[in-house]
Amino acid sequence: MPHFVVHEHHATRLHFDLRLEMEGVLKSWAVPKGPSMNPAEKRLAVMVDDHELDYAGFEGTIPQGQYGAGKVFIWDSGEYALKAGSLESERLEIVFAGKKLKGVFALVRMSGKSKEWLLIKKQDEFSDSTFTIDLIQ
Ligand code: MN
Repeated sequence: MPHFVVHEHHATRLHFDLRLEMEGVLKSWAVPKGPSMNPAEKRLAVMVDDHELDYAGFEGTIPQGQYGAGKVFIWDSGEYALKAGSLESERLEIVFAGKKLKGVFALVRMSGKSKEWLLIKKQDEFSDSTFTIDLIQ
């Protein structure tokens, strides 16, 4: 199964980066509020540049003066399965098997040319209407 990672990125603004191993790279989305296990909380996920596969293991500090300067932690990681869809279809159904992200999510592009997607937990045995995000740091 392919891997995913969610980086907790303390840049100018704290955000989270969802990265999916796909097509030989890490397809990446910046999620300002982070993923939610609550199906009622749709999370904006802005597609950003692909990263190389080995970046999935990165934790550390991006130096001042470089893009994204600040501390990076692995908020969650694990395997995932693509249940349906593709990037081209602009609608993915993903089953995460992480420590925090579990079960089915939809990742849906908001409009044809936009980089803006929504990450939405689907109702299942792992969904949690009381979910609040816990920071590594
Ligand atoms: Mn980032």
